[in-house]
Amino acid sequence: MTVWVRGDQLTRRRGPLADRPGERVLFVEAASFAEKLPYHPHKLTLVFSAMRHLRDDLRQAGRPVDYRRVETFEAGLRDHFTAHPEDTLVAQRPQTDGARQRIEGIVADAGGSVEFVPDERFLCSPERFDEWAGDDGTYRHEEFYRMLRRETGYLMADGDPVGGEWNYDDQNRETPPDDWEAPEAPAFEPDETTREVAAWVAERFDGGYDEPPFGGDWADPETFRWPVTRKEAVEALDHFVTHRLAEFGPYQDAMLGDEWALAHSLLSTSLNLGLLGPSEVIERAIAAYEDGDAPLNSVEGFVRQVLGWREFMRHVYRREMPELATANQLGANEDLPELYWTGETEMACLSDVVDGVRKRGYSHHIERLMILSNFALLYGVEPAQLNRWFHAGYVDAFHWVTTPNVVEMGSYGAGVFATKPYAASANYVDGMSDYCSGCPYYKTKTTGDGACPFNALYWDFLDRNEDQLRSNHRMGLVYGHVDDKSEGELDDIRERADEVRAMAREGSL
Ligand code: SF4
Repeated sequence: MTVWVRGDQLTRRRGPLADRPGERVLFVEAASFAEKLPYHPHKLTLVFSAMRHLRDDLRQAGRPVDYRRVETFEAGLRDHFTAHPEDTLVAQRPQTDGARQRIEGIVADAGGSVEFVPDERFLCSPERFDEWAGDDGTYRHEEFYRMLRRETGYLMADGDPVGGEWNYDDQNRETPPDDWEAPEAPAFEPDETTREVAAWVAERFDGGYDEPPFGGDWADPETFRWPVTRKEAVEALDHFVTHRLAEFGPYQDAMLGDEWALAHSLLSTSLNLGLLGPSEVIERAIAAYEDGDAPLNSVEGFVRQVLGWREFMRHVYRREMPELATANQLGANEDLPELYWTGETEMACLSDVVDGVRKRGYSHHIERLMILSNFALLYGVEPAQLNRWFHAGYVDAFHWVTTPNVVEMGSYGAGVFATKPYAASANYVDGMSDYCSGCPYYKTKTTGDGACPFNALYWDFLDRNEDQLRSNHRMGLVYGHVDDKSEGELDDIRERADEVRAMAREGSL
């Protein structure tokens, strides 16, 4: 038997690498897989560098490792089974049954077989989720999160949530004072292996895509900063818990033009590659609370992200694919504006956030939801196109992550767990950020010259989707405001929204 380590399942301390210490290890580095999308160069560098570092660490520890650099997975597996006829591979389970069947087919065609074992990057097993969720096809995150809190005992005391509340969101919507300085974000300097990978990525993946890739000067390896080894990932966790966690909670929904990371954890790449496990990061955060080093609102907010949302999204994806990938219940059919690739827009908020994605392959959660997804939702972008962009652009993105987050939560594509669209006008952006004061658009204007594009698009979105949204009881208040608008005002709004879309298509927004 051979342990097959796939590129995003680099878990070493648990799972098949730990359970089968004497066995051969196989990595397949398939270049053509990385050409499926115009991925951010840092994303490719991250995954390939992390794979090669684990290869080297295992070899240094005396493990026999076959590292196959090939064009396709098929070729890599054929090579493996030629060298080891009728071998059986042991790998962590992929995210969906469809993916499992595809992989089993490829392995069988190559002349061997594969056994799947649990995916150690998550805490809640598929069986437990299915037992909890039943068959009705709708899911409520809050109930799932509370179930997992009870079962794990995290932040629980005598069967009740520590502090008496399940969440402290009301303490987590602050914007930092003017003189606040964000703790410096950790950056892990690329070593020789990472530089070698970055050079190969630049050479191999430069161009050849239909869309402008997240490449060119923005792909400078000098700006690559993400942990690529277990040791670096643990350092990143230490850094977060020591320097950032205390302020994470209150400022988790804030957006500042000069602070791309604020006090966010920046641990998603390590969690999603398996360099860190969910229980260790949760337990470190809880220990900081118990030691008096971080307040409960920060720690609960972080635990909710990792134990709640991350686990929840993984299972919604597993159960709702393949339909979720193309879900589009609002019938949104606009193409994604080019500015998502180029960052070329006068809109201060959108321009800054897209620039951050181009530079680093990263923006924090609230920028993803309330700037990038919100604008696309209001504009009427087809959810699958936005999903593709997120999947290509972010260093921590995998299809299982982006699809429920972007298609469902951001685009209200399916209605399987989102109870209403996350739609907001400039009023929200202004309240949670410092963007509007430096923007050439007027945040308080809805129509006419220089009116903030979010505003007309917001009312136009509600107007266009009235048949589906008005009956939603969570939208009642909002439609009360729509009713306050005269038909003449709505005509002006529709005209301005069309104008905004035309400007976006022309590249003059
Ligand atoms: Fe964004 Fe509108 Fe504010 Fe400008 S005015 S920063 S476009 S929300």
